[in-house]
Amino acid sequence: MFSGGVSTGGGRASSAVGPSSCPADHRVHLDLGFFQELEEKFDAKGGPFAQAYVVAHEYGHHVQNLLGTMNRVGRGRAGAESASVRPELQADCYAGVWAKNAVVTGFHDRPFTDDDIREALDAASAVGDDRIQERVQGRVDPEGWTHGSSRKRVRWFTTGYTTCSPARYGTLSGGI
Ligand SMILES: [Zn+2]
Repeated sequence: MFSGGVSTGGGRASSAVGPSSCPADHRVHLDLGFFQELEEKFDAKGGPFAQAYVVAHEYGHHVQNLLGTMNRVGRGRAGAESASVRPELQADCYAGVWAKNAVVTGFHDRPFTDDDIREALDAASAVGDDRIQERVQGRVDPEGWTHGSSRKRVRWFTTGYTTCSPARYGTLSGGI
């Protein structure tokens, strides 16, 4: 956790990068300022479970690093069903799987409430590419998407949370 800037195995990360998972040093880097930005810049309601969603999403990328997922899908191209978006939606799905298992494994000491889940979904929706584009450039251009639309990010978190089944993590190929 850091504020303002941190040295990672992948070079120096500034807070402009946002939260990230670094394949070089196997660490998740969380800029604490991002959680404030989530509310102020991305217009999310915020709350503890919104933050938990962000952290779980980054750990999802760590799982992908361990599994070599990024090498399989490649990177680079943007677009609604691009190689950039697919692992992002999978990380959202993993975040949902985490939410489900956090209670079962005793990591979280009480069942999540509908309000908790709503916080996560609100955060997932707030960081959707279409919502960000609309706010920043006043129009939506799916060709430029790198993380997926608000609707898809909500959908894949929900898929992970409700199915909790590896067979349902299918964001890497086919229609998403
Ligand atoms: Zn991500």
